[in-house]
Amino acid sequence: MPVKNRFAELLPEITAWRRDFHENPELDYAVHRTAGRVAELLRSFGLDEVVEGIGRTGVVGVIKGRSNTSGRVIGLRADMDALPIHEKTGAEYASKTPGVMHACGHDGHTAMLLGAAKYLAETRNFDGTAVVIFQPAEEGGAGGLAMVQDGLVDRWGIQEFYGMHNMPGYPVGAFAIREGAMMAAADQFEITVTGKGGHAAKPHETIDTTLVAAHIIVALQSIVSRNVDPLKSGVVSVCVVQTDSTAHNVIPQVVMLKGTARTLDPEVRDQIEERVREVAAHTAAAFGARAEVEYERGYPITMNHPEATGHAAEVARQIAGDVNMDMLPLMAGEDFSYMLNERPGAYIFLGNGDTAMVHHPAYDFDDNAIPAGSSWYAGMAEARMPIQG
Ligand SMILES: [Zn+2]
Ligand SMILES: [Zn+2]
Repeated sequence: MPVKNRFAELLPEITAWRRDFHENPELDYAVHRTAGRVAELLRSFGLDEVVEGIGRTGVVGVIKGRSNTSGRVIGLRADMDALPIHEKTGAEYASKTPGVMHACGHDGHTAMLLGAAKYLAETRNFDGTAVVIFQPAEEGGAGGLAMVQDGLVDRWGIQEFYGMHNMPGYPVGAFAIREGAMMAAADQFEITVTGKGGHAAKPHETIDTTLVAAHIIVALQSIVSRNVDPLKSGVVSVCVVQTDSTAHNVIPQVVMLKGTARTLDPEVRDQIEERVREVAAHTAAAFGARAEVEYERGYPITMNHPEATGHAAEVARQIAGDVNMDMLPLMAGEDFSYMLNERPGAYIFLGNGDTAMVHHPAYDFDDNAIPAGSSWYAGMAEARMPIQG
């Protein structure tokens, strides 16, 4: 199963869909035009079922194979949302909406999965059911979770999930994957430090909240370096420091710190949460101040299941001739993790060539990656549900 010839034929059509999505990017759950277009195209391909409004604006399409003796149901997932970035690609199909841009290539993912759906509906060369899933709000809104909570898994009886993301810096059409943690858990915290404000020239009559907050910021950096096993990994970043003083001579009453914690291991995730709470509270206490910690768990760790990783890599190998099985995990988050928490599956990277990194205003999805990407989606359905006999 090299790149399917059909996708070379379909390339101009799939590219046109992709560029149309690129020109009309939408944010978060408000992907109304995109989802409408996806549903319209799926219906035109003659799918067995197309349902809109799953997880608010998600779309689900069902394609029945030529036979169904296996009873298998394979879920293939793409994301549809864009980012609040002002595009600077200069492309003729650049965003028509100022300040909104497909800077993560979800336009490409959606178009490639549409291409696979068209091919699978034409050929139905598998024994079971393929479910194509188009989710909103990957960029922070947890659209993947919304679809799961809306009954995605049970309503269609999905048994395995496969997802894909493009990757700048890797050759176009090359694949990379790893078993286990592929993307990080992305948690966030907010620490409210309360001291005793006052005149900056009379520090002895205050509890200097700014100084306490500074000690907390420094102490938080000991968590990864001194508490986490050096052979494991974690990130603690304090990104916002905000005092309630606007004057150079007023010691603030309250200082707010905001930050993020990234981990690839559930135990390290628990450990970092516990230590952020302890370090903040006790450092504040040492100065006679108080620290309240709100710690919010975000996207889970994207865990590639061992067997499914093998299946995903095998299909990729047949398309590209080779696959990098030792890709290093990324500390960014990915909400396909909510689907992988429900059922086995895997998430693979597809090279996007020498382009700007995702989330950069000059980033663009490379349409030359489409045949490989669509072949992989379609290949996953065929390989996991082979025709018997
Ligand atoms: Zn992104
Ligand atoms: Zn993305």
